[in-house]
Amino acid sequence: MQNEDNLKGLTEKFFKSLKCEVIWKGKILFIEKVPADFEKLFGKKSPYSFVFDTADLNDETELITKGSSLIKLIANYLDHKAQTTLLKIKFNPDFKTELKKNINWNDYEIVSISEKENNDYIYRFTIMTIFQYLNEKEQIISTIYIHNKSILDNFNADNYETGEGKKEEISFDNANIRENYAIAKDKLKYLLQKRTEHISQLLNKSLEKEIQRIDSHYKSEYGEIDTEVGDAIKKIQELNLKLKRASAKNRPIIEEKMERLNQTIEKLNKSEEKEKFEREKSFLINDEKQKHSINISNNLINTSIIYYPIYSLKASIKKKDNLSGFSKEIRLDYNPLTKRLSQLLCEGCKKEINEVNLCSTNHLACTQCISKCPSCFKIVCNSCKKSSCTVCGISMCQKCETICFKCLKPVCKSHSCKDSINGKNLCNNCAEYCPICQRFSQKTNFKKCQSCSSNFCVYCTKSKIVNSKTKILCKYCLDKYY
Ligand SMILES: [Zn+2]
Ligand SMILES: [Zn+2]
Ligand SMILES: [Zn+2]
Ligand SMILES: [Zn+2]
Ligand SMILES: [Zn+2]
Ligand SMILES: [Zn+2]
Ligand SMILES: [Zn+2]
Repeated sequence: MQNEDNLKGLTEKFFKSLKCEVIWKGKILFIEKVPADFEKLFGKKSPYSFVFDTADLNDETELITKGSSLIKLIANYLDHKAQTTLLKIKFNPDFKTELKKNINWNDYEIVSISEKENNDYIYRFTIMTIFQYLNEKEQIISTIYIHNKSILDNFNADNYETGEGKKEEISFDNANIRENYAIAKDKLKYLLQKRTEHISQLLNKSLEKEIQRIDSHYKSEYGEIDTEVGDAIKKIQELNLKLKRASAKNRPIIEEKMERLNQTIEKLNKSEEKEKFEREKSFLINDEKQKHSINISNNLINTSIIYYPIYSLKASIKKKDNLSGFSKEIRLDYNPLTKRLSQLLCEGCKKEINEVNLCSTNHLACTQCISKCPSCFKIVCNSCKKSSCTVCGISMCQKCETICFKCLKPVCKSHSCKDSINGKNLCNNCAEYCPICQRFSQKTNFKKCQSCSSNFCVYCTKSKIVNSKTKILCKYCLDKYY
């Protein structure tokens, strides 16, 4: 069953990788639109109807088993073809909905959205691994996805609508592919590790058995020689006993016999036969070791560069009750694959925010950075330029600030006035009030009345000759006394 499933998967994946149309019709794998060069190799024109169980075999179907020419052909074909395909994932996002869903717009509404596309890339490597050991041949197809130089788990391009990509739409080079393929191969090693270990264990067990079998075979082969040696040793022991009791005359005869037996033992142990057996044995063991090795080959079936757009969005927004149309442009990136929108940032503290608050000068700000101008009570934020009045020290927004033309310092509305003579802004420190015309002007424009000793502006004072002396007099004193 396991094997049958493997074959099904292999065949299906293989034809899919050739971009054929592959459909399961019940237990029949139906394949159409097969590339001509494969048809030629296979010797049959498509469509093909493959089955994997003899029970499903009929006149119109072809049975695929491990030994089928198709499977051999697939392996062969893969050796010589490694295709690179370009795939574009199609997206058609509704930006307005995405923006509304992800951000609290408060009192603002989106007027219009414009978008620009930048591509993001995913590399897909389809690799067929063939394990060969003893008389077994096992194929595993692995698909590895890489994004930003790291493995993308839980991703499957089949879950997305894709179309054929265009070379001119993307930028990549072969060095890029090689770099990513190296990452994929590392992952592949990891993916195959369990299978490899399992097979190695099986092979080790089997090898041990074989070595034991060879060992016991040669033990019985050596047997004959060993008995001969054993017999000789026994005889020597017997002669040894005789030697102790023997007369001086008999001794040399016994000693000679013992010497001959020793030579026999030596001969037997060094015999060509035994050496031959040893050679045979080590040859057979080495042979078994060879047979029990595992041969793993990886074939890159297909490289796909999958690309999809990252959208750079510009959303024009306005306050809902603002009829004039536009207040600010907000920039965001949207990744349709992850369905993630980039974060809005507070222009003041750069913290991530997910709601829209604009200050009175249209800065995007977080709630912590927003406050009211103590002078005009309009909303201001930390990135708004602020100053304090040179007269009262109150902090105020730029709209509230005027600059005194005399001292060039900022001043709030309630402590600034217009110079009645040149019409410029003055701070209260630099201005003086004329009680006659009830207007302000800079202090140098005031003169002291030589009658009442009060200061008045140049408009309200006059020089008059009194008793042949020139006097400066205010309008009051002039009217009263002269
Ligand atoms: Zn902030
Ligand atoms: Zn203000
Ligand atoms: Zn602001
Ligand atoms: Zn003030
Ligand atoms: Zn001033
Ligand atoms: Zn005056
Ligand atoms: Zn006066």
